[in-house]
Amino acid sequence: MSEIASVLDTDALAVEANSFASANGIQVERKKTEESEDNLFLGAPMSLLPNAYPEQEFKKACDVAPAFNELVERVSQDAEFLQQTLGGGVSTMDPFTAKILKLYHQVYVDDSTANAPAKSADRLGILRSDYMLHSDDDSYQIKQVELNTIASSFAGLSCKIANMHRYLSSRYETEIEEFLQTNRKRNDNDNPPIVLFVVQDGETNTVDQRLLEFALWETHKIPVVRRSLTRLNSELSVDETTGALKLLKQEVAVVYFRAGYAPTDYGDGEDGIEWNARLTLEASRATKCPCLGYHLAGTKKVQQELARPGVLERFFPEKDETNKVAAMRTCFAGLYSCGDDATPEDLEAIRDVLDGGEAKYVLKPQREGGGYNFYGEELAQKLRSNIERTGDSLELSEDLAEFILMQRLFPPEQNAVLMRGGKVEGTGDSISELGSFGTLVVGSDGKVVHNRYAGFLLRTKFSGVDEGGVASGFATLSSPYLC
Ligand code: ADP
Ligand code: MG
Ligand code: MG
Repeated sequence: MSEIASVLDTDALAVEANSFASANGIQVERKKTEESEDNLFLGAPMSLLPNAYPEQEFKKACDVAPAFNELVERVSQDAEFLQQTLGGGVSTMDPFTAKILKLYHQVYVDDSTANAPAKSADRLGILRSDYMLHSDDDSYQIKQVELNTIASSFAGLSCKIANMHRYLSSRYETEIEEFLQTNRKRNDNDNPPIVLFVVQDGETNTVDQRLLEFALWETHKIPVVRRSLTRLNSELSVDETTGALKLLKQEVAVVYFRAGYAPTDYGDGEDGIEWNARLTLEASRATKCPCLGYHLAGTKKVQQELARPGVLERFFPEKDETNKVAAMRTCFAGLYSCGDDATPEDLEAIRDVLDGGEAKYVLKPQREGGGYNFYGEELAQKLRSNIERTGDSLELSEDLAEFILMQRLFPPEQNAVLMRGGKVEGTGDSISELGSFGTLVVGSDGKVVHNRYAGFLLRTKFSGVDEGGVASGFATLSSPYLC
């Protein structure tokens, strides 16, 4: 019998959890099939109980959020840095990143008067910095897995999971304790400005998105319209004099992207209607969340470049009274380039993999959404087949330029009960990844109007599973039990 099942009646608790989840909308949408176009909602993947989490490290993730917000803002404004980091080998090997970079230049760098509305638009960031606990000596510390600047999901559902765990653990206190010990305003006219959610066709994580929509309506009476990039193309226009973005007759004040981060969101290809829609949105005066610069600042290649000595300092040249540079740096794990900018240290890490040390690393391409990383033998193979080694010297094939090599993190294992589709999927050892949300509003003059920590997400998966991601089917939603 598993550790938890010996203490708790997990089946009975799963029934409670499932009912709470249904009553409170902790749900995802079922993929529509050819047989059925019915709208059906299922229980979201979730962890039955919270996971123990060291309070001090949790607090660090909250406290450092505004610093990462500011970093993204500054990186987004540094065209030279973005070009240097993403222009060379990365762009050659990754047409998607190349296209985003090209649009960024077209809209923000080129000196055309058509670009005035975009340049004078405010910027909005909803970011999520993800961490795993890792111990190099005797204490666990948070290390950044990645920084998400586009479509950072689960702010909506995450609070509800914490509520469910609060409910279960107060109602079933005695039983669970034992387990836990072990482990803006509306304009007065007929066409008020709207917020446009850019979404994927066939999206299943709609409840998480709708929670933001309902909150906008309830708190500010701001209507949300949801559209795919494909459909938008024919419905958008930009007023030539003011730069106002119109969806049919309504002005769009804010464009919130929950799509557009994957090549598959641009079905029609390189010069297709989806890319055209993205350009129209970006070139308007509407606030984009994220703007192209923020999108680029969240790439894995930029993450790797920012970890190099002196690069954070370049973005924070002023007196650093709150020590934010040091606070961010302590969150960085080992990050190494596999491109022609690889330093002797980077090459040493690559050599370590070739010599059999692959278990200590993860190889990542410039992609979002989970499921693309290389681990273990597959990682070693990928490097071996793209590197020529003569003695101590390494010749890296250009195919590797879009990849970064990262130190693999080993978070502490805990016993967990994971649920999927309303059923207990299994019980066993699990590891968790903490997401720390940050929100940021910056005027076109670069003045930071709002910069805050904005909540957390804890995702839990079985220890044997390499990849993460809830929507991609690897992880479940959970919450931290601070200890
Ligand atoms: P994506 O943008 O696709 O989410 P991530 O960098 O978050 O890319 O990688 C996906 C998943 O792979 C993470 O959620 C995590 O589970 C796992 N992972 C990524 N980097 C590491 C690492 N350095 N150590 C251990 N696991 C990792
Ligand atoms: Mg990501
Ligand atoms: Mg991720």
